[in-house]
Amino acid sequence: MNEVTTINRTQREYSDAVKKALGRKPQLFINGEWVDSSGDATIDVEDPSSGKVISKFVESTDKDVDRAIAAARTAFDDGRWRDMPPIAREKIMHRIADLIEAHADELAELEAIDVGKPKGMAGAVDVPGAAAHFRYMAGWAGKAGGETQAPYAMPAGTMFGYTLKEPVGVCAQIVPWNFPLLMACLKLAPVLASGCTSVLKPAEQTSLTALRLADLIQEAGVPAGVINIITGYGHTAGDRMVKHPDVDKVAFTGSTEIGKLINRNATETLKHVTLELGGKSPVVVMPDVDIAETAPGVAGAIFFNSGQVCVAGSRLYAHKSVFDKVVEGMAETAHFWAPRASLDPEGHMGPLVSKEQHERVLGYIEAGKRDGASVLMGGDVPSNDGGYYVSPTILTDVNPQMSVVREEIFGPVVVAQRFEDLDEVVKEANDTPYGLAAGVWTKDVSAAVRIASRLKAGTVWVNTHAMIDPALPFGGYKESGIGHEQGRLGLEAYFETKTVLMKL
Ligand code: ADP
Repeated sequence: MNEVTTINRTQREYSDAVKKALGRKPQLFINGEWVDSSGDATIDVEDPSSGKVISKFVESTDKDVDRAIAAARTAFDDGRWRDMPPIAREKIMHRIADLIEAHADELAELEAIDVGKPKGMAGAVDVPGAAAHFRYMAGWAGKAGGETQAPYAMPAGTMFGYTLKEPVGVCAQIVPWNFPLLMACLKLAPVLASGCTSVLKPAEQTSLTALRLADLIQEAGVPAGVINIITGYGHTAGDRMVKHPDVDKVAFTGSTEIGKLINRNATETLKHVTLELGGKSPVVVMPDVDIAETAPGVAGAIFFNSGQVCVAGSRLYAHKSVFDKVVEGMAETAHFWAPRASLDPEGHMGPLVSKEQHERVLGYIEAGKRDGASVLMGGDVPSNDGGYYVSPTILTDVNPQMSVVREEIFGPVVVAQRFEDLDEVVKEANDTPYGLAAGVWTKDVSAAVRIASRLKAGTVWVNTHAMIDPALPFGGYKESGIGHEQGRLGLEAYFETKTVLMKL
């Protein structure tokens, strides 16, 4: 028996701060206060490292959703936030970031036990990332503005034209379960910077950190009703948010399937929509790479967050001259990525988020095997204590028709293929309905630039993967999304532009 199979996957004891958060009464954060639901239904919180139920939260009713949207509507319409001096809004946003940092350990643990991700990773990536989004967007609160523009077809001096940037209004924000706190902060930061208001719903699998964030938002001094956080299911509460006539904009991150549905539903009332959806991102490894650096790099591109990442490098294309060495090098990382309970300090990968996701990923691995793929590494469920573990998996001998190559698995499963010719690999890499991200590994700068321009993806990484920064826009090509988040473009998505034309 090797070391990987003897890992003890029993979950560790929770801290007192986390036990307190788990014991709180299920309530919703509406109009600046914690309120009871109009109904009594709740949803269980499960720790995916053990499969045990550890808490519960409100399943919002239609009435709860309407109440939250009404609070956001009033808070927008009376100008309590958008008319506040930008210096004051910026200060409050920095205060939220300060409070996130002050509670970093607790937030990382809550995220770990809710999603299943290693606490160390949540503490290194999710929590600082969450604070960084508020800090970055805080700077825009006083800096975004319109421009003066001389008319083009009118005589000079007869007309004066300028534009105004005005907040779009009430936003319905719906986030997924893979990076719950980070996604919530990424959504809320431009709302606050632009002067909008929001009703945010975390995913039904992972609502713990969004609820705790509501406490911090309240403590930071955000006026009542500006941010409202409600919990519940997507097809009920989420659906009502998207269709609600008092909502001006929908911002969604999640699957392409639900994104298409949301887009259709939001169209009925012509809401502004931004969608950040799925992917099946290709990673191209050129013949000149340093294997010792590239193999662990491309392994991390898929196994980070148990592959539950929209930009996961799930399709590997390595040049035939380095293919064997790259996949062998990836297989050597098996111990590093061996799944462990999320509070195990030695863990780099945890279980999958839920039973449903576990079954889905294992189903894909079985389908791949049935279609003739070979399992070079993993493919199994390691011994465990009731959690939703899957070993990091590398499939070879695949072809472009297989479901494991075409569809988003959202798990720690990579399909590895050889290529000979650059034109052919670019064509294969682009042969997908998705266009979220892609990677290129090479020492040849010219090749990197040329390949990056030919890959149809919203983000291309060179010699790295999944690096995302608040200052740089993020968005998908093709069926991976509409619009952008982050950076100036991400802020613009929360503004209307008004033109004023004045006869002189
Ligand atoms: P996944 O497949 O990764 O679970 P989903 O796209 O189903 O992701 O869910 C992402 C988010 O969208 C969650 O917060 C979920 O509650 C919400 N959601 C799901 N269905 C709908 C819907 N019909 N309308 C609005 N929101 C939805």
